[in-house]
Amino acid sequence: MGSLKQIEKFHDELTLWRRDIHAHPELGFEENRTSDLVSEKLSSFGIDVHRGLGKTGVVGTLRVGNQTTAIGLRADMDALPIMEGNTFDHKSVYDGKMHACGHDGHTTMLLGAARYLAETKNFEGCVHFIFQPAEEGLGGGDAMVQDGLFEQFPMDAIFGMHNRPGAPFGQFIIRSGPMMAGGAFFDITIDGKGAHAGRPENSIDPVLVASHITTALQSIISRNLKATEPLVISVTKIHSGSAYNVIPQSAILSGTVRAFSSEMLAFAEARMLDIAQNVASAFGATAALDFQIKFLPLINTESEAEFAADTAAELVGEENMDRNGPLIMGSEDFSFMLNRCPGAYINIGNGGGQSDCEVHNPGYDFNDDILSLGSSYYARLVERRLVKQEGL
Ligand SMILES: [Zn+2]
Ligand SMILES: [Zn+2]
Repeated sequence: MGSLKQIEKFHDELTLWRRDIHAHPELGFEENRTSDLVSEKLSSFGIDVHRGLGKTGVVGTLRVGNQTTAIGLRADMDALPIMEGNTFDHKSVYDGKMHACGHDGHTTMLLGAARYLAETKNFEGCVHFIFQPAEEGLGGGDAMVQDGLFEQFPMDAIFGMHNRPGAPFGQFIIRSGPMMAGGAFFDITIDGKGAHAGRPENSIDPVLVASHITTALQSIISRNLKATEPLVISVTKIHSGSAYNVIPQSAILSGTVRAFSSEMLAFAEARMLDIAQNVASAFGATAALDFQIKFLPLINTESEAEFAADTAAELVGEENMDRNGPLIMGSEDFSFMLNRCPGAYINIGNGGGQSDCEVHNPGYDFNDDILSLGSSYYARLVERRLVKQEGL
């Protein structure tokens, strides 16, 4: 287990990098400072740098020997539009922007692995270090795929990692197959007939129709699906009207759907359209559905999930490797990369105590204690997958 010991030697530097990135958070597709920093560090390690995929994305390529096998390691770089509530020295210097999901730590862990692998070269083959922009709902993962990530940098497998608050330090969590839900955002536009609120008989009230549709949508999960099938339909916005005494002309319902297969998302979309149109029609109104898939279900391929778990278990022991973690209804746009290439996504415990603050919370912070361990995981994936051919 030389990698962990060697990376721990520069743990203090990793901590400085992570805190510097934390203090300078940038939103999706605006990661200019961060991608400059990543590119400079990769270059200083002697790694080839390619920029511009997905606008601010960076790919570093390190090749050792003649073996053609290639592996991709991916981290995300973007922050969130949240006002940081922490008061420590490395708090965000920008009002309203914050690294509240730990992508500062993910970027640093991958940089740590890059430095170690470039220094030691204890493997044979090709590694692509992928730093993606705009993970938080803006489609940065898909943007890199659309810009030719897998054509320009062919790879046999790809691996990603996210911290998990509340899971203890030194614990890894994974599951084979579906692990995180795919997600769609939807808008249902209801057209009725506006009227004076004192004379409802002259109206087709879109607020009443919206209320009935909202209620009826929940019957999809409770009446159309087996109780054992996971599906979430959440109406999160209802917008209509602007006066006490006016029945408005239209209403818009919006929200999100989460499921573990594209088929289930399509099923939800079809039922939602049916319910929206027919409920509206019963009241004399019309309804249109706009349903957009923003995240694919995140699906780990079986052999790569096992390989990832074996690699983590080698570092922390089988007792700290949860190979059958729970399904997660949240989404993650690494799914767009896993949709194109075998691979696996793993969670690393962010530790308990102070570090169990949930992500996307103003009080969250990535736990620097796990930086070396995370870097070692990435490094060992490479050393175990691209095994050096001794004596050649
Ligand atoms: Zn997030
Ligand atoms: Zn995240």
